[in-house]
Formats: sequence, structure tokens, C-alpha cells
Amino acid sequence: MSDHRLQDAIDTLKGSGVRITPQRHAVLEYLLNSMTHPTADEIYKALESKFPNMSVATVYNNLRVFREIGLVRELTYGDSSSRFDCNTSDHYHAICESCGKIVDFHYPSLNEVESLAEQVTGFNVSHHRMEVYGTCTECQSNNTH
Ligand SMILES: [Zn+2]
Ligand SMILES: [Zn+2]
Repeated sequence: MSDHRLQDAIDTLKGSGVRITPQRHAVLEYLLNSMTHPTADEIYKALESKFPNMSVATVYNNLRVFREIGLVRELTYGDSSSRFDCNTSDHYHAICESCGKIVDFHYPSLNEVESLAEQVTGFNVSHHRMEVYGTCTECQSNNTH
């Protein structure tokens, strides 16, 4: 399944006129196989042995290209440690307060929040983001000694 998604993503890049370099291919593949919503730093650390000449800035530039084409979403948290999500369908996130892991879950899109917000604030609302916080299953079992 991920091979299929990788091929689709590569087709999208090609269709947008983006050159597929080996590094770009590797960053994309890592993202598609990763369910953890990695940061640019995590991707860099995972790939640096394979691409010794690659810098974090290269990873960041590739992620920016993917974001502009709509292949990934950037989740900013106000502390410059953006996480990248290759699941671009509508979904919400559960975030572990202990290890920082982000897990996707699906729930009917809360569109009424957006229309209410528009009415109350006069904003032209583009999207919304919802997160729940807690302790993931792994951290729960680590804590029960
Ligand atoms: Zn955790
Ligand atoms: Zn997600």
C-alpha cells in the first residue's frame, strides 16, 4: 500500500514539475512510511547515514516543496519544531504528553464550529485543528511497574 502511495506522490511531484532527487525521494519515502508525524530533525537523523552530505536545511526545503504541492501538512506548535503529516485527509490528533507521539483518529469533521466561528467573529475561516492530549498506550504500560 505504501508503495502505491509513494508512486502516487512521485507522480504528483512530476506533474508539478518538481525534480526527483535521490534525497527528495528518500525524504518522501520516510514520511509516507512514518506514522509518527516526524519533525525535520527526526527525518534528518533517520537519513543522515544514507546521505552524509545532506543537511537539515535540505530536509526542510524538501518538506516545504511537498507542503506547497499539498503532499504533506505542516503542524506548527509555536516552538519551531514543526511536525509533518503525510495524511492529508481530514483527521484529528491525539498527542502524548509524555513522549510527544501524535496518533491520527477520524471523527466527522466539525464543520459547524467553522460556520459558528464565522458568524461570531466575521472571519473567513479556512480550516480548524483539534487535538486531544493524554498518555499513549506505550507510555501507560511503561509507567505501571
Ligand atoms: Zn507516549
Ligand atoms: Zn495526522
